[in-house]
Amino acid sequence: MTASTHTTVTVLGLGAMGRALAAAFVAAGHPTTIWNRSPGKDAELVAQGAVSVATVEEAVRASALVVACLFDHESVHEVLDPVGGLLADRALVNLTSTEPAGARELAEWAAAQDIPYLDGGIMAVPAMIGQPGSALLYSGSSTVFEAHREALETLGTAEYFGADAGRASLIDFALLSGMYVMFAGYYHGAAMVRDIGMSAEEFGNRSASLLAAMLPSLPAAGAQIDTGDYSEVFQPLTFTKAALDAIVSASRDAGVDLDIIGPVRNLVDRQIAAGHGAQSSERAFESLNPRPRTAI
Ligand code: NDP
Repeated sequence: MTASTHTTVTVLGLGAMGRALAAAFVAAGHPTTIWNRSPGKDAELVAQGAVSVATVEEAVRASALVVACLFDHESVHEVLDPVGGLLADRALVNLTSTEPAGARELAEWAAAQDIPYLDGGIMAVPAMIGQPGSALLYSGSSTVFEAHREALETLGTAEYFGADAGRASLIDFALLSGMYVMFAGYYHGAAMVRDIGMSAEEFGNRSASLLAAMLPSLPAAGAQIDTGDYSEVFQPLTFTKAALDAIVSASRDAGVDLDIIGPVRNLVDRQIAAGHGAQSSERAFESLNPRPRTAI
């Protein structure tokens, strides 16, 4: 029998996501050790070939690559602080959703103990892990990323964004902000048509078609935002304002709260008030982040 050449992996945290990560490592042939605070979440993984251990210490000692997928920043410290001394000759990858400042704090905590640290953001739900479409963003130690890239690729496409451990998290949350605001826009529209008897499901179908048709234009909008020159106009701010005024008015008439659409109109109004009404509607971006831009 030949020994496995696959990296040994430990997964700390067997919530829905931790279980999916561990299952992907096992399926890819990595000797996988698992640990969870509460018992009872390991049976299926053990049946698949994972080794379940009772203590964090045993779990950390078992592998070259330690992946934490816990609840939040505090729980990562709660679990890892007592075993910091054991991690120095291993690679720590934190896939717990952590704010950029939290990721940087964990990187400093790790650096103080010579722990090679990589932070990651998961752009997938558990069912997608190990499947096409799953993408994970990483930043922090390039050494960890390069040494364990193959193992990390078993979870989904692995992309590295630099030595600052907070970058992956920042990009993760920026992407999620777009997703949440898009859903909120859909909720707003569904609320507008509710009283005429259109179901939210039917409205969802219609919205999905319209949004899918619009989404490919995002990179072109971004290219204009990157230049900061809004003189090439596809749709002027004054046109967008007329549309938003009408939507606000129709929303009011339908008795729908303006919490979602009101601030969108506000972004446009501020640029028009500053004298930019004839410029491209992408200029609304400048209301959000008006500082001088850094080179991209
Ligand atoms: P769950 O709520 O299903 O699981 C949370 C896990 O954290 C459990 O294993 C839980 O242990 C453990 N935990 C919580 N607090 C502590 C603590 N103080 N000490 C030790 N362990 C603790 O969450 P998910 O698995 O879904 O998510 C895990 C991480 O992955 C989160 O940061 C989440 O944001 C991120 N993520 C999740 C996605 C998803 O779709 N689910 C998508 C992208 C990222 P116990 O069983 O003992 O409670």
